[in-house]
Amino acid sequence: MSDGTHYDVAIAGGGLVGASAALNLAKRGLRVGLFERRFCGAQASGVNYGGVRCQGRPAEQLPLALRARRVWDRLPELIGSDGEFVVSGHLRLARSDADLDGLHRYAQMAREHGLELQVMAGDTFHRRYPWLGSRAVGGSLCARDGHANPRLVSPAFARAAREAGADIRENTALTEAVFDGARFRLRTRDASFTADWLINTAGAWGNTLAAQFGEAVPLEPIYPNMWVTEPLPLFITHNLGVFGGGIYARQVERGNVVIGGGRGSGNGEFGQPSTDTTRTVMRDACQLLPMLEHALVIRTWSGVEGATPDDNPIIGASSTTPRLLHAFGFSGGGFLLAPGVGEVLADLVADGATATPIGAFSVERFTRANATSSLSTTHQMQ
Ligand SMILES: Cc1cc2nc3c(=O)[nH]c(=O)nc-3n(C[C@H](O)[C@H](O)[C@H](O)COP(=O)(O)OP(=O)(O)OC[C@H]3O[C@@H](n4cnc5c(N)ncnc54)[C@H](O)[C@@H]3O)c2cc1C
Repeated sequence: MSDGTHYDVAIAGGGLVGASAALNLAKRGLRVGLFERRFCGAQASGVNYGGVRCQGRPAEQLPLALRARRVWDRLPELIGSDGEFVVSGHLRLARSDADLDGLHRYAQMAREHGLELQVMAGDTFHRRYPWLGSRAVGGSLCARDGHANPRLVSPAFARAAREAGADIRENTALTEAVFDGARFRLRTRDASFTADWLINTAGAWGNTLAAQFGEAVPLEPIYPNMWVTEPLPLFITHNLGVFGGGIYARQVERGNVVIGGGRGSGNGEFGQPSTDTTRTVMRDACQLLPMLEHALVIRTWSGVEGATPDDNPIIGASSTTPRLLHAFGFSGGGFLLAPGVGEVLADLVADGATATPIGAFSVERFTRANATSSLSTTHQMQ
């Protein structure tokens, strides 16, 4: 049954990427329909670790990351909440001299992109961070980085998009999309719609839509493993990571320490944490943070994220279908990026181009060999 609604832009997926796109497009005066099969911000965008970190990203992500980072400073004005965003700085720890060399090399590269880092070691480092264990021999501080509460930030973007005029439809899966040569014809379980543009922000499920437009990419679900301790006296002053990855930790104002490391498991639809992984990584974490030794772990969890082979997302225009854009597969790093990605998607729709370099994220890097034209393609989702 058609309810006769025509959108300038339809968005499939109400995570932080889709909601940010909806907010930016609605603010530019476009008629936006966002379809979310469950609740906005309830998947990866709402259950992640909460790291808002430019440091550690590859060179090709830094321009987008720095654009996104500027949006984080404007959260109260944009979404009516600070989302518990704290500019705590991000300290990336070295556990060996080889790690320290890696931190110095990374800092040089980052500086060329306008990201300033301070690499420290030896007595200066240990005096500044008496709460770190001797396993940490140095670190690199990015003062502009921080952390936030994903459970607050992600739904708030969707609420702000609704207030800006976007039609936010929760519990409404997009079940079918056809490009008929002029516009997209879309179906949900109960109704049908039309749209001039379609944006695929379906997260770990983005490939379902992409594949049906002849653009399947190698995308695997991953399930980052997370846990949180009881409240402890405040002692961790930065959002922490380690060179080479594997452990990350931050302490919230209430004193709980949120920790991530390793992978849980899942079935592509739901993720669950791994007790064995939590025990192993927590042992390593205690070597870096001795204050954790007697802390009670009060909750563990995981979520589903889509990862590509090069750990870069797919962002940009479809190579098979006009006015179809993709933005999915953030490979564990989309929380910081999403507010910037929303701006970029709005640029692409409203201006036809964006000043932010996104060439490295083109869907064609995976599909060049088998790209086919599908001007009249139907797809069924879930
Ligand atoms: C446990 C965990 C920890 C993480 N930690 C960090 C971190 O510290 N820092 C960082 O930068 N990143 C982190 N990430 C990654 C980050 O959370 C994601 O990259 C980001 O949230 C992706 O946003 P998204 O909007 O693409 O996906 P999602 O939030 O998953 O949203 C996609 C949405 O699409 C909907 N959908 C799917 N199919 C359809 C359909 N057919 N119709 C309608 N809706 C549909 C889904 O229901 C979902 O709500 C972490 C991820 C996880 C899982």
